[in-house]
Amino acid sequence: MKTTKKTKIVATVGPATSSKKMLEAIIAEGVNVIRINFSHGEHSDHVDVIKRVRQINKEQQIHTALLGDLQGPKIRVGKIKEGTKVKVGDVIEFTNEEIEGDGTKAYISYKTFPKDVQKGEKILINDGKLALEIIDTDRKTTVKAKFLNGGKFSSNKGVNLPNTKISMPSLTPKDKEDLAFALEHNMEWIGLSFVRSARDIIELKHLIKKEGNLARVIAKIEKPEALDDIDDIVEKSDAIMVARGDLGVEVPMEQVPLIQKDLVKKCLRAAKPVIIATQMMESMIESISPTRAEVNDVANAVLDGADAVMLSAETSVGAYPIEVIKAMTKIIKQIELSDSIYHLEFPPAEVNEDRFISDSVCYNACRLSQRVDSKAIVTMTHSGYTASKISSFRPKAGIFAFTGNHSLLNKLSLVWGVQGFYYDKFVSTDRTIADIKYLLKKVDYVQEKDLIINIASMPINERGQSNMVKLSYVE
Ligand code: PGA
Ligand code: MN
Repeated sequence: MKTTKKTKIVATVGPATSSKKMLEAIIAEGVNVIRINFSHGEHSDHVDVIKRVRQINKEQQIHTALLGDLQGPKIRVGKIKEGTKVKVGDVIEFTNEEIEGDGTKAYISYKTFPKDVQKGEKILINDGKLALEIIDTDRKTTVKAKFLNGGKFSSNKGVNLPNTKISMPSLTPKDKEDLAFALEHNMEWIGLSFVRSARDIIELKHLIKKEGNLARVIAKIEKPEALDDIDDIVEKSDAIMVARGDLGVEVPMEQVPLIQKDLVKKCLRAAKPVIIATQMMESMIESISPTRAEVNDVANAVLDGADAVMLSAETSVGAYPIEVIKAMTKIIKQIELSDSIYHLEFPPAEVNEDRFISDSVCYNACRLSQRVDSKAIVTMTHSGYTASKISSFRPKAGIFAFTGNHSLLNKLSLVWGVQGFYYDKFVSTDRTIADIKYLLKKVDYVQEKDLIINIASMPINERGQSNMVKLSYVE
């Protein structure tokens, strides 16, 4: 009988993986979501990737999702003279004028920087490799700062301002162009970097809705301000990414492991997918096998209960993109043998909540599945809600979602344990359930005498809340 891993893999594409052959190979090894990072590359390259993924989906009847990742209010230093080095105590002036810089003066891509900062705040450059303290600002054009450590100072490196209330909008003009591109190509998921509050998500969703698009939104958690507003952000977003790269620079990095666990827990309770990102298999950018620490990191993300683990440079520019997916899949499958990740129980909250009936049906279907050791839980879904809800209880049985909506099938590729099937003949519940059983048996996900659970909404053609659980044998 066929089994697949439950935890999904998000892989960032780039020069190392953008060919059709490489995309096919990484998808075959376990990639479920292809991420296009708008911080790199041109729209013309992205179009080719999108077309190839769509074609692979069609040829293989699979549902790989596309994630367009907007860079948000990311700040960078400008061009710096080749070979510039700085040492502790050096003083530099940051200006909002686009000059070629050196160790004494440099451009920073943040117009109101001098106005927004205060004396004593920190500036971190290149993932925190260089740290500075602000000693003065003229509140108009220039900020003076002192290097707290020395090292190489080079062009276009990212800047983090962990203590500063940044007044830049959450969507820059570039983000708006990238968003228009992503929506035009019907990318299923849109990621937003440096989310600061739930309002950022509301604004992005508003823009998506205005275009009549149904793309779903991933809030990337990488700022301390986002942690302060996390409950609202989880509520307003469709998914969360623990963006540990920038997060580990903006907050003390020793706090990241517990933040990760806490965010995963919140997302499980809310039945929203959560992605663990960045430096999971970093050494495999250059090396054919991961370090033991990296194996532990991926394993722990799976044990925490993540829906998906993500690769960045490992697959976009790394030397071993296929090997890294193979290694990740192997770790995931091994950890998924452990009972500890399954059968979470949080009963639905309030009897009079909107979704109480379908939430109760999903919850009890999962309990029933555990008691009778059923091999499959099947849902016929229009919005994907029941599939995500069932997934949040992490049943050991396969979760199979049937829907006549191709875009939704792709979206569900991010959700833990869910496998989507295209099905559009919703005539009667009995007939549909019989059809589905036959189909699952044919593709070898269930066998004769297996118990299978169906969740449905009766009458089926009203497309209401799921209100029925059926337990039966596969014939
Ligand atoms: P990035 O986001 O790769 O777009 O920076 C992920 C992270 O910061 O971890
Ligand atoms: Mn980031």
